[in-house]
Amino acid sequence: MDPVDKFFLWDAIGAGAEYLSKDAIFRQPSQLAQHQRLEAKQKARNAMSEVVLLRAQVERLSLATAALWTLLRERTDFTDDELVDRVRELDLADGKRDGRMAHTVKECPQCSRKVSSRHPYCLYCEHDLRTHGLEGPDA
Ligand SMILES: [Zn+2]
Repeated sequence: MDPVDKFFLWDAIGAGAEYLSKDAIFRQPSQLAQHQRLEAKQKARNAMSEVVLLRAQVERLSLATAALWTLLRERTDFTDDELVDRVRELDLADGKRDGRMAHTVKECPQCSRKVSSRHPYCLYCEHDLRTHGLEGPDA
């Protein structure tokens, strides 16, 4: 090992720093592979936790939406057909019928910067984007 590398390796271990490359720390290919396996396992575990949290969030939102709709239907003249029509209308507001309320990124016609379709005005030049077909479903 290069004396300079050795110096930085010991310095890093002593300080608990993470700036050394894994190749320098794991001299044996099997050690590196083992480390990579553990890292991949941890990443997979984190992704699963996130999926569980997102699923719980979606279920709460679905419940709240169902509660709101049943309340509205009971207390107003709105019908299921009107709800379905409005869902289709909002779905199509971004130009695609995909069951999603996507926020697209478009170019401001005045300053040419990238802006989200959910903003009614350009964040940079304050140009009114609603009159230029940039309005999204929640603009
Ligand atoms: Zn602009």
